[in-house]
Amino acid sequence: MRMAIIGGGIAGLAAAYELEQARKAGAAVEYTLFEAQERLGGCLASEIVDGAVLEFGPDSFLTEKPAAAELCRELGLGAELTPSNDSHRKTYIVVRNRLVPLPDGLMFLVPTKLIPTALTRLFSLRTKFRMGLELLLPPCGRDQDESVAALVERHFGREVVERLADPLLSGIFGGDSTLASARAVLPRLVEMENEYGSLTRGMLAAHRKMRASANATARKNGKPTGASMPRSAFTALRGGMQQLVDALTARLDQASVRLSTPVSGIERTDGGWRVEAGDATKHYDTVILALPAWAAGALLGRVDAVLGEELSAIPYSSSITVNLIYDESQLGRLPQGFGFLVPAVEGRTMLACTFVHRKFLGRTPHGKAVFRAFLGGTKGEGLLAKQDAELLATVRRELSEILSEAIFSQMEEPEHAQVSRWRRSMAQYSVGHQERKQRIAERVAALTGLRLAGNAYDGIGIPDCIRLGRQAAKELLVSRV
Ligand SMILES: Cc1cc2nc3c(=O)[nH]c(=O)nc-3n(C[C@H](O)[C@H](O)[C@H](O)COP(=O)(O)OP(=O)(O)OC[C@H]3O[C@@H](n4cnc5c(N)ncnc54)[C@H](O)[C@@H]3O)c2cc1C
Repeated sequence: MRMAIIGGGIAGLAAAYELEQARKAGAAVEYTLFEAQERLGGCLASEIVDGAVLEFGPDSFLTEKPAAAELCRELGLGAELTPSNDSHRKTYIVVRNRLVPLPDGLMFLVPTKLIPTALTRLFSLRTKFRMGLELLLPPCGRDQDESVAALVERHFGREVVERLADPLLSGIFGGDSTLASARAVLPRLVEMENEYGSLTRGMLAAHRKMRASANATARKNGKPTGASMPRSAFTALRGGMQQLVDALTARLDQASVRLSTPVSGIERTDGGWRVEAGDATKHYDTVILALPAWAAGALLGRVDAVLGEELSAIPYSSSITVNLIYDESQLGRLPQGFGFLVPAVEGRTMLACTFVHRKFLGRTPHGKAVFRAFLGGTKGEGLLAKQDAELLATVRRELSEILSEAIFSQMEEPEHAQVSRWRRSMAQYSVGHQERKQRIAERVAALTGLRLAGNAYDGIGIPDCIRLGRQAAKELLVSRV
């Protein structure tokens, strides 16, 4: 069987790895991985500068989603997995130029601890009062999807949207809470609203269930209850995400990889698919499109116009990361914690900043500090056109202003600075995403030998992209046996 994978980001690499494993195990499979750029990995890229790991794209993956760590272990990278430094996990929100810590007990935007919520400087008295009243809301089922902002505002008020939901969505996904789908982005909260009404009561009940099940497991294993070790929230690779790309690349059949080869067209044939890349057109039995949805839509438009339009209608945002290395002696006392998020109402260019040396230990030399600023998102497309020097000056100025209480008022020139631009890279799950995903799945099912993978469908993070890539390859292998 001849199989084409189009797109060599993490989803395409995971699919190719699965096919290579099958080939080595004796399956009659040949594959070609087409990648438009001169390197594999897509958004995953990093380098080590003077001993400091600089991540250009993602810096880690969610530990609770196992697909990424599992793949790393399979590739022999188990010893490289680095947990986030959760004993110092604290995230700040910028409120009128000051860093205010997120209160303890916030789960998926929902306050679950009375005292920290009552004492936090993040919310006004009025909002805290409203949070108390939220406990009384009765169950309510909604037929229609709505935005994350609408769901959060109905429960906790506008201030929680502005100071929490919006900065979290823009700082993590480059998104906009007024556009993002509650059903796709916060499905657990939507279920809780249906069952309990109050999200706080729903979250507390879920927490009790989780504790009871952890205690039951501990009892079964003869361990003391209540003593289970919390897992770190994030997992990184000691040498950076490029390690994962390199390990995957090394496992592939090098003759099956075509770099700098954008696919310009695909067509259905009687028994499969014709793929056009460069001057060559070749026949394949199956095709995996591991591309951003807009790129998949452009290729599929000629095969199924409706499918092409559905894919092209999934919005994407662009992002920019800026890494700055400093000698810690140049800085004052930086607050503890992983970094901060900047609400749009603060009127700043930066969306978020990670204190890299604090979030993951052992990836920055002793005495050095690495800041990783995040810019762009749905409201910041125009920034992509700016020169590096201008972006660096903006980040340094805003860092100096936001951290002015902690560090020297004017940040010096960094020892090293690096800027990465990621154009139309982050899929946005806008209101109605689940329904669109279903319509896309139905049309893809009608096209034998075709699968889609990538961040546009069922999770934007690395673990979901890996899961979907591997699943696409497995399904096609089984369908053709
Ligand atoms: C700045 C940033 C920070 C992030 N942070 C995190 C994080 O911390 N944790 C996390 O889990 N996720 C994070 N993400 C999200 C995650 O990295 C991405 O969703 C994921 O890497 C996307 O992988 P992909 O394979 O679907 O797509 P991509 O990485 O976009 O790969 C698609 C590939 O297809 C290629 N291509 C496009 N058109 C063609 C064509 N016609 N022919 C051939 N090839 C083509 C492209 O060149 C590209 O290499 C982040 C993303 C960004 C941009």
